[in-house]
Amino acid sequence: MDLAHERYEELEKHIRQTCPSADTERIRAAFEYADQHHGPQLRKSGEPYIIHPIAVAEIIVELELDQDSIIAALLHDCIEDTDSTHEDIARLFSPAVADLVEGVTKLTRMQYTSREDEQMENLRKMFMAMAKDVRVILIKLCDRLHNMRTLQYQSTAKQKEKALETMEVYAPIAHRLGMQKLKWELEDLALCYLDPIGFHDVEQALRDLTTENSEFLERMQGQIEERLNEEGLNCKVYGRLKHIYSIYRKMYAQNKTIKEIFDIYAFRVMVDDIPACYNVLGCIHDMFKPVLGRFKDYIGTPKPNGYQSLHTTVVGREAIPFEVQIRTWQMHQTAEYGVAAHWKYKQGMANQKLGTEQDFEWVRKLLESQQDTDPDEFVHSLRVDMFADEVFVFTPNGDVKSLPANATPIDFAYSIHSAVGNSMTGARVNGRIVTFETPLKNGDIVEIITSKNAHGPSRDWMKICKSNEARNKIRQWYKKERREENIATGRAMFETELKHMGLSLSSITATSELLDTLLRRVRFGSLDELYAAIGYGGMSAVKAVGRIKEELTRLGRLERQRAEQEAMRTAASAGETIYPAAGKGIPKARHSENGIIVEGIDNCMVKFSKCCTPVPGDPVVGFITKGYGVSIHRQDCPNAEPARRKPEEQGRWVKVAWAVSEDAHFRTSLEISAKDRDGLALDVAMALSAQKVRLNNISARSQPDGYAIVNLELAVRDQKELTGVINKLSQISGVFLVRRAGG
Ligand code: MN
Repeated sequence: MDLAHERYEELEKHIRQTCPSADTERIRAAFEYADQHHGPQLRKSGEPYIIHPIAVAEIIVELELDQDSIIAALLHDCIEDTDSTHEDIARLFSPAVADLVEGVTKLTRMQYTSREDEQMENLRKMFMAMAKDVRVILIKLCDRLHNMRTLQYQSTAKQKEKALETMEVYAPIAHRLGMQKLKWELEDLALCYLDPIGFHDVEQALRDLTTENSEFLERMQGQIEERLNEEGLNCKVYGRLKHIYSIYRKMYAQNKTIKEIFDIYAFRVMVDDIPACYNVLGCIHDMFKPVLGRFKDYIGTPKPNGYQSLHTTVVGREAIPFEVQIRTWQMHQTAEYGVAAHWKYKQGMANQKLGTEQDFEWVRKLLESQQDTDPDEFVHSLRVDMFADEVFVFTPNGDVKSLPANATPIDFAYSIHSAVGNSMTGARVNGRIVTFETPLKNGDIVEIITSKNAHGPSRDWMKICKSNEARNKIRQWYKKERREENIATGRAMFETELKHMGLSLSSITATSELLDTLLRRVRFGSLDELYAAIGYGGMSAVKAVGRIKEELTRLGRLERQRAEQEAMRTAASAGETIYPAAGKGIPKARHSENGIIVEGIDNCMVKFSKCCTPVPGDPVVGFITKGYGVSIHRQDCPNAEPARRKPEEQGRWVKVAWAVSEDAHFRTSLEISAKDRDGLALDVAMALSAQKVRLNNISARSQPDGYAIVNLELAVRDQKELTGVINKLSQISGVFLVRRAGG
């Protein structure tokens, strides 16, 4: 019998022991198929290639995964390294097995050349996102474990590369899945190649310590066992040393000597149930002196990856501290095998189909709970179903880009640089030319073809792309590069919308004053600017026309009122009406208690109108009220507009002027329009306080369209100061208009 068959027979024997119900005929068929397809291929060690898949299957059997996983492990390199296909495997074995093999193949094809930390996190996420089925990750981890165990046959460069990948990608994923045992072995193997000297130093130091203290360890184990048995506790005690990498990290990262590390020695006490755990803890603390602050109850509060145990560090008479971990057998299974323990529990349950949604609920819960991070534990947040709204792809250099799900080559191009997007003429995914609409998949290698003669982005790209980044950059391009075109497009859209609303272009361009007023309403300086903005998508035609129509309606209403009053005045006999005499000169400034001088009246009672809250410097006008003195309005206040003054009250309007006054403050109101956001009102208040402006009242309200209006009541000395305040407020992020109330 050849070596391959010899190894296979051992594997099958092992399978019969751990899983008597397994269909060994199917498993043997998988072995024969793989053996035949790998044929004369050899590994670097000189062994037949098939020895590797058998070894991977062996590790899968140790984890007691299901039969499909064993078959997939035997076939795991067939698609990648032989002429076998997904269809072949689906036909000969099952579509489920074929999917597993293909999943592993995809992970194998991934390149992990990146060295940057942030990229590593993306790599791990991509790894998890690509797998979809946890068993794919488990098979890939076992594949990596066997490759690490046989890494001595590879070149030094390859060894370093694989060891780094293992440390950065595979070990953290094993940790995330709670597979402590596998993680430890991967870490120790990787360390051995990454820092051979450090590795052997720690190994040597540990060996010395064990020889020195072997008698102590044995005695402690005996003492603990004896005492627990006396208490009638059914338990098993194991002594052990920490794995090399965890000690290495403590020594080098935390700069400790091996003697300063508390938990080099650890005992594990395994019991049947949780109450027994706490009983054991009581006995241990009774026998030895606990080290303060070292007790941790991971039973009450499990670790993010599902780990449960009681930990305590104690010191015996020898003054050597050691850790005791107390757990149930079931907790032990989870601690050692993590996600894989799931299948162990399942063994023996009849007709359980694995791989269905419901079966993975347990895994999903486990992974979802892993959100808080323990810096000492190398925890990175990873979840199989966590990245449904993201897709991870490679640049040709091996950098990982994270894009929104269903992102296209357009999104990818703009995520590199706007210049790449703007000069894009084509795209290749995994070496093949694709259309711009092609949705990218996890692990795709995307290459953008650019040309100096490119015409720039097409407008349709804005509909195709999925990221705001790409959309904004395309819009920017249109704004800058295509003004003429934007104006033409914008004009057409604007005119169509005008027609919709029953307006004609001539109705808004009748006079240049009318046009200016309307443009001010939409905040543009000229029609071309408005068209350009509509053209590149900065403002919608619907919104622009809507605002213009509003303004037209308002102006029309004013015009009608004016006409009515004119008619009334003409009807009443002329001469009765008294206008404030024009050209008569405003009274000279004098000191006044009120800050206002009213023509012809000394020291009269003055109040400032609430509607327009004038401040010194504003042109003002007074109105003699019945019994409350003179109320002061700004000349541009709608309530003071000559056209709106009631004819019978014309005589009450009087000329007024500001008196020179040093320290009087005047209350006024401002209204701020801004993009709604957290902290807007706070920023406004801060800006005012920085200007030393007295703020009497502030109120903010959100508008349904994502905007907010902030109303302020403040006190200023004069118009100059107010202008300064308005300028400062206009600079606050998100603010687009600051205006005086009633103006
Ligand atoms: Mn392999």
